[in-house]
Amino acid sequence: MARKVALDPGHGGRDPGAVGPGGIREAEVNLLIALELKPVLERAGFEVLLTRTGDRELGPTLATDLRRRSDMVNDWGADACVSIHCNASGTADPGRTANGIETYALPGGRAEALARHIHRFLVVFTGAKDRGVRTNKRFWMLRMTAPPAVLVECGYVTNAGECALLQEHSYRTKLALAMAAGIMTWTGEVTR
Ligand SMILES: [Zn+2]
Repeated sequence: MARKVALDPGHGGRDPGAVGPGGIREAEVNLLIALELKPVLERAGFEVLLTRTGDRELGPTLATDLRRRSDMVNDWGADACVSIHCNASGTADPGRTANGIETYALPGGRAEALARHIHRFLVVFTGAKDRGVRTNKRFWMLRMTAPPAVLVECGYVTNAGECALLQEHSYRTKLALAMAAGIMTWTGEVTR
């Protein structure tokens, strides 16, 4: 049974990730969600590793950041990895209307199953637009991590309404509880 869950709050430090209205930085939102999720998973009996706990990149350079993250996850012997991100739309969406949650995994196997568990709860618990489970073979944290890994785009920081929600503690709690529920059902934890 999976016992060790690595949480990877995307970006940090010199890399703010997407930036929303009022200068809200994706990196900060990602970390707050991860810090909310960690104690929930611990209450469920999981060991939890965070790839970062502060607003910093895993240097010495930005180029090494992703490799440091995947090395941490693999060296620790994680049974699953969840990368936490928020999304942004660009010039193709001048009204910044794009919103909703999407969850990525490599196609097939246990990773895609984990994505489906997590994504289902995310959409049900938050009421956010369902942008689907998507497969991706290029994302570093999906390709280079040994355990099944997913990457969650928790919402669009470029969308005014969704950005406001992401700044609410109660909304981040919903996101965290949904991800925990997905991980628990994927591992069979709820049948114990
Ligand atoms: Zn990101």
